[in-house]
Amino acid sequence: RQQNSDTSCVFYSSEMTLKMKTEYELNSLFEASLENQDFQVYLQPKVRLSDEKTAGAEALVRWMHPQRGLIFPSDFIPLFEQNGKICSLDLYIFEKVCIYLNRCIQEKKDLIPVSVNLSRVHFRNPNFLEAFWKLKKKYKIPDGLIEIELTESIFFDTFQRRLVRDSITEMHRYGFGCSLDDFGVGYSALALLKDFDVDTIKLDRQFFSDITNTKAQKIISGFIRLAKDLGIHVVAEGIETQEQIDILRKANCEMVQGYYFSKPLTICDFEKWRRGSCKS
Ligand code: C2E
Ligand code: CA
Ligand code: CA
Ligand code: CA
Repeated sequence: RQQNSDTSCVFYSSEMTLKMKTEYELNSLFEASLENQDFQVYLQPKVRLSDEKTAGAEALVRWMHPQRGLIFPSDFIPLFEQNGKICSLDLYIFEKVCIYLNRCIQEKKDLIPVSVNLSRVHFRNPNFLEAFWKLKKKYKIPDGLIEIELTESIFFDTFQRRLVRDSITEMHRYGFGCSLDDFGVGYSALALLKDFDVDTIKLDRQFFSDITNTKAQKIISGFIRLAKDLGIHVVAEGIETQEQIDILRKANCEMVQGYYFSKPLTICDFEKWRRGSCKS
């Protein structure tokens, strides 16, 4: 037993060192990677179920490091949230989205709304939205074309409630939509709908993991009906199977996002996907 705990202790500490080493490296690579445009925007379509048309897209960051290859957000976002670097990264991704939308406008393409994820860390600076609004103005992006996704956990933080509510009002004044991401992960999701003026809710993937369960189905269709009554759009997230699609159709779900239709794509592949058929 004694020996056992010793080995696990050694193992733990070497794992820690490795983690710290990786974090140190990722941190030291950040500024140069921003400079070299190694962070890229991927777009994942949101498909409207009624006609299977692309009704929007979500921008998701990918880090394409020349030596380390592709790095996913889960490997660097928590780290950059700790040290505040996430704020400049979110602003960078937002500007890339503006540049893309501006190009669509120049080329007279069909415009679809694009949503961007903003970290909770931005709320430390009460005027954070101004910088986003300035970029929106710089690239002449019309109102209603960019939606800001805020994860549900932000809304539970009692310190920030007032700030979040005021920020949503400001988002609307600046012409941004507001999306409540990961809806239903917490326990008082319904209260959030009363207290915050969001335009869209994104039903979290965990709702659909047990889709054959009739109780789960009733909860899903109940949420969808309620959102509709409140004039709130609904996106079902992480949809992978035909079975899930069939049930969501029956529940009159407006939009779905997930591998069933497409994974997140580079902007170039996203454009191709839109020109081609809906199923990837
Ligand atoms: P999220 O905002 O909930 O984004 C959805 C995640 O689910 C994405 O992971 C997406 O690739 C993945 N996904 C989509 N469809 C499916 C599916 O059918 N099945 C499964 N299993 N997964 C699916 P990704 O791109 O790795 O991003 C992870 C998280 O990192 C995001 O979760 C978001 O919280 C954060 N994130 C991504 N990009 C940004 C960004 O630019 N800024 C900030 N602040 N956070 C970001
Ligand atoms: Ca999101
Ligand atoms: Ca989500
Ligand atoms: Ca509304």
